[in-house]
Amino acid sequence: MNQERPNELVAKQIVEAKLGVLLVHADTHGGVDYKSADGKIALEVTAVTEGGNKGARDALKKSVKKGVPGATLASCWIVFAPEGQANMKTFLQRVQPALVELERAGETFFERERAGLHVIQRGPLAEIYRPLLDAGVERATHAPHRVSMEDPDHVHEVWVTTGSGGSVSGSNESLERLLDALSDKTDNPHKLAATGAEQRHLFVWVNDDTWYNIARPLSRTTPSWAEEGWGVPSIAPALDPAITHFWVMHERSRLGWLWDGETWQALGPEPSDDHE
Ligand SMILES: [Zn+2]
Repeated sequence: MNQERPNELVAKQIVEAKLGVLLVHADTHGGVDYKSADGKIALEVTAVTEGGNKGARDALKKSVKKGVPGATLASCWIVFAPEGQANMKTFLQRVQPALVELERAGETFFERERAGLHVIQRGPLAEIYRPLLDAGVERATHAPHRVSMEDPDHVHEVWVTTGSGGSVSGSNESLERLLDALSDKTDNPHKLAATGAEQRHLFVWVNDDTWYNIARPLSRTTPSWAEEGWGVPSIAPALDPAITHFWVMHERSRLGWLWDGETWQALGPEPSDDHE
């Protein structure tokens, strides 16, 4: 007899609350996870959590926590770096002072290939570019924004996003990568199809260990003013016909999306929990 796992139980409660139905644990002998009493709704819960590089991410967190006293920025920056590189423990300490120097030189953008060429040609910014190149920075962008009334004590900072396998351009592309990752898990549609239920829901958890390219739209690790193109997807997902409803949610942020066969909608925590 299979026990309910915690992430299954939470997903079930989210689906129940959203649909206004009651679901019963059905996976006692390897079938679909949940069914409604009338058999019309079936729910399978899964997770896509592989691909991250926890060691490097933890090291980066330490670097960010330590901060860089004295290197005061004129604006926030968004910095892209590949995931899983060495020396992330001192990443911010190497990058932020260089960004301060870039600001002093009137620069608001760094792009790896262009900077590499500039260094080879011994351009005037070569000495500033070098630590950024050494730290593995792919791209850095000034993110001008007004300091909001709610946060008058705002100190400009560096928002580091790490990724691998190329960067995605928005939610539609992240969704495609997620469906790609799911295509290996053929047992999900098989279990749903076997139920014969009218509505066959697949609920997918992502978390901070998921490839950032997949989890980014829901991870809320960039500030809201950098969220252009990262809202609800605008394309229909290419789902296995066994799946009629598709849910995806981030474990930490509890932000998610629901595809009901026709449209996407955003899922999220109660507004009171929302503290950006
Ligand atoms: Zn700022």
